[in-house]
Amino acid sequence: MALMTGEEYIESIRGMKMQVYMFGKKVESPVDDPILRPSLNSVRMTYDLAQMPEYKDLMTTTSPYTGETVNRFTHVHQSTSDLVKKVKMQRLLGQKTAACFQRCVGMDAFNAVFATSYDIDKKYGTSYHENFKKFLIECQKKDLTIDGAMTDPKGDRSLSPSQQPDPDLFLRVVERRPDGIVVRGAKAHQTGMLNSHEVIVMPTIAMRPEDKDYAVSFAVPLDSPGLFMIIGRQSCDTRKCEGSEMDVGNSEFGGVEALTIFDDVFVPNDRIFLNGETEFAGVLVERFAGYHRQSYGGCKVGVGDVLIGAAAVAAEYNGVAKASHIKDKLIEMTHLNETLYSCGIACSAEGSPTEAGNYIIDLLLANVCKQNVTRFPYEIVRLGEDIAGGLMVTAPSEADLRDEKLGPYVEKYLKGVGSVSTENRLRILRLIENLSLGTAAVGYRTESMHGAGSPQAQRIMIARQSNLEHKKSLAKAIAHIKE
Ligand code: SF4
Ligand code: FE
Repeated sequence: MALMTGEEYIESIRGMKMQVYMFGKKVESPVDDPILRPSLNSVRMTYDLAQMPEYKDLMTTTSPYTGETVNRFTHVHQSTSDLVKKVKMQRLLGQKTAACFQRCVGMDAFNAVFATSYDIDKKYGTSYHENFKKFLIECQKKDLTIDGAMTDPKGDRSLSPSQQPDPDLFLRVVERRPDGIVVRGAKAHQTGMLNSHEVIVMPTIAMRPEDKDYAVSFAVPLDSPGLFMIIGRQSCDTRKCEGSEMDVGNSEFGGVEALTIFDDVFVPNDRIFLNGETEFAGVLVERFAGYHRQSYGGCKVGVGDVLIGAAAVAAEYNGVAKASHIKDKLIEMTHLNETLYSCGIACSAEGSPTEAGNYIIDLLLANVCKQNVTRFPYEIVRLGEDIAGGLMVTAPSEADLRDEKLGPYVEKYLKGVGSVSTENRLRILRLIENLSLGTAAVGYRTESMHGAGSPQAQRIMIARQSNLEHKKSLAKAIAHIKE
């Protein structure tokens, strides 16, 4: 059976013995923790939607390796149509969760490692591509969720991995054995780690020959000995423990990030996809980043759809839906959001096959896509807050609304249009709060800035891909310049 149900997925994660820490304590059952559970529910949606006939075309496909129907999140893209469907699937999931649903990182790592392991084998006669294909088929057959881990802590940014005073600030091989390697280091900001069965680790920057031990890529299960996670704090995270679903704004879905420590983790030989071939580290980073920058043209657009919808509802509840400036602000939000989507679709439609046979996006357009994502969601949020009004941050709690003495006053004085209950008005404002300032803002705003690489990383790629010489020759031809 190649497709798991949402419930089977939850139970499969429950069955893993992951080492998860939060607020200085070990979390005994992460699956049941009120702060962590919404992030698991987001990933669950990638399984639930795959079971629904109306989403079958977007959520599933046929594996060229097993011939079975598989979840698209475990797929290696076979065409530009696959690349386009990927973006549409991500927009759908953003709409259904209003959060980061995490599973894309593994899909993007699959496609980057698939192409790069092939290139390394071609040059060095290694067997990384075979290793990877075996791993991929296992993931497809079991319908696993895979995290992709790239970001090292990096220490002093002016120093290369091997120059750092502390050699562990980039993940590295500390021991080579006949049956595998032992790795040490950490990966930061890992959203999906907690809810994944396995992780594909990749280097975070291009490497030089002296950084050989740092040029390593592999996959291990998340309950491997020596691997543990420390969950990051988010604004409003403990609000989820207060028992008010309403005050959370989006109580069912979310995402949390983990600092993941690899404290001497063993990796068997057949799980290694890069090991010392330093010149391929940069290629792997570029490809993974390209795929994940494409991804943002889908997921963030879906979350944007929810935010635009919430702003429109808030305007109605406030009785201002017909005001021309409100209509214009909603148009502006839509314009920005659809521009992001256009970039996601464009870099997919302009994709091309790799030597290994899978399809890769147009790297220039994917980087332009993500560069826009570092800006437009901020403007969309600004307009959303403008429309919502200050009450989105000054409203009393649900406890006040339910209180025998205070409730009638909250009802009376916070009412908008007569036909809408005060409770519904507060609910939509809490959702806007959640998306712009609360726990979901991590996934919608700050992740839009830094996820899949901070803005400067895209500008470097845009410079590299822009072919300025060609543009100069165009100008000289038109101006009849002969040098
Ligand atoms: Fe997927 Fe977007 Fe989350 Fe990345 S940020 S894992 S693309 S939902
Ligand atoms: Fe991300």
